[in-house]
Amino acid sequence: MRFNPTPTNGRTAHGDTPFGAYSIEWDSAGNLVGESIEIRDPADAPPPNRAKPTTMAEKAKGAAALLRAERGKQPASDDAVVMRTATCEDCSRNDLGRCMSASGCNCYLWAKVRLANEKCPDGKWFAEERVGD
Ligand code: SF4
Repeated sequence: MRFNPTPTNGRTAHGDTPFGAYSIEWDSAGNLVGESIEIRDPADAPPPNRAKPTTMAEKAKGAAALLRAERGKQPASDDAVVMRTATCEDCSRNDLGRCMSASGCNCYLWAKVRLANEKCPDGKWFAEERVGD
């Protein structure tokens, strides 16, 4: 489920499941103001967005990135982390916190958005040049 703000300080939630897509809207006071549900046969659901299985080399690279991010190595700026996180949260390639880009990233997004030299494989955000790097 994705939440987005509305221009009037309310919020909307959108989701897509094998059983259908839904959209819900609340006003700024939290009152329900609209909903829509499109019910579908699970057999007609689009295939999950999984590009390919993860290789051992990718797992090792992901583990190394997690360690660097956890230890604060090569940190991205706070603004970049916020912007990258918001972009990834809205991205259809985000599969439970892993980037399943067709170009083969498969990265752990928690770590990826926190490392200055990482970039989105689909060009939605870029590496950061840090002073002193
Ligand atoms: S890194 Fe790019 S492609 Fe991957 S989930 Fe984030 S925005 Fe989407």
